[in-house]
Amino acid sequence: MSVEMPQIVQKNVNLKELSTWRVGGCAEYFCRPTLLVEIEQACRWALSQALDITVLGGGSNILISDNGIKGLVLCMRDFAKILEVKEDEKKIYIKAEAGTKKSEILKLFLKRNLSPALFLAGLPGDVAGGVVMNAGVAEKIIPREFVEIVEEFEVLKYEGDQVKVVKYCNQEIEWEYRHTNGWQPGVIVSVTLSWKLEPDNEIREKVKLANQIRLQKQPLKQPSCGSTFRNPDGDKAGRLIEQAGLKGFKIGGAQVSEKHANFIVTEEGATAKDIKRLMDHIINTVQQKFGIQLQSEVIPLGEW
Ligand SMILES: Cc1cc2nc3c(=O)[nH]c(=O)nc-3n(C[C@H](O)[C@H](O)[C@H](O)COP(=O)(O)OP(=O)(O)OC[C@H]3O[C@@H](n4cnc5c(N)ncnc54)[C@H](O)[C@@H]3O)c2cc1C
Repeated sequence: MSVEMPQIVQKNVNLKELSTWRVGGCAEYFCRPTLLVEIEQACRWALSQALDITVLGGGSNILISDNGIKGLVLCMRDFAKILEVKEDEKKIYIKAEAGTKKSEILKLFLKRNLSPALFLAGLPGDVAGGVVMNAGVAEKIIPREFVEIVEEFEVLKYEGDQVKVVKYCNQEIEWEYRHTNGWQPGVIVSVTLSWKLEPDNEIREKVKLANQIRLQKQPLKQPSCGSTFRNPDGDKAGRLIEQAGLKGFKIGGAQVSEKHANFIVTEEGATAKDIKRLMDHIINTVQQKFGIQLQSEVIPLGEW
């Protein structure tokens, strides 16, 4: 059955500004929905044309190729309403559309002095991106990763050229270090978070301190994607990169941060290829010096 291209879909849209690294080419087709029905229409159309569908959240953990992304790119950041906040005698439940910023969720926890505010402090991007990546912090605080606060989430699933929303509860998903499995392929459209109603009266001070520490240790004034490599078991990628003498090492417009060796920062004019070449150089150097194979935490998107 032929489906007309929805009006909300545009052709050849540059994606650079949608990635925190500020690099990357164009989406062949692009859609920035505000309504569920628009996501459904765009996906149904893409499936009818046999196009791949790529989802962008806050763009803070992706490397978009300079050659762009074929098929349809859905940018979720305007699909961002808090849908419900409710409390029973034990817990708070927050349901939010996928593109809601983590910082908005943080505010809701902070208002009630609840502990999830602490690990959310300084985490960029959307709530759905947090679920996909099981985002979190290394410090041994409770909670420290999304797995601990997600109650359930809804995914727009594809079946042939049809789409339908399916709900997944926390226990149905495989949660790993900076990765989740068991719900793909699909577009996460909403996330429900929950936490015990047990206030921590020092939480505001703790959040303030966590923000100060991030500012001190991370190059937050330069474009980056946060930690570029996963920490190998029992070690820190940043320590290995620094010990390999790579702090400040530069290829084109991409540089190993002087402040935090696991951050790659970019300057105006940098390309995705510069970042990719620098990542390959880091991997090879650390492998040669320490016999450890670093794995990318950042997800490459598009045509390489
Ligand atoms: C300065 C800085 C500091 C950071 N610090 C941390 C940290 O302390 N801890 C940490 O864990 N991470 C950190 N990160 C990395 C990043 O912020 C997290 O991984 C974040 O959760 C990614 O969310 P996002 O919305 O930006 O996702 P994106 O980067 O846009 O996407 C990540 C993946 O999720 C998929 N995706 C996004 N939304 C959807 C959706 N609605 N449906 C289906 N798939 C989707 C994308 O296709 C992609 O595969 C940091 C990044 C920066 C720039």
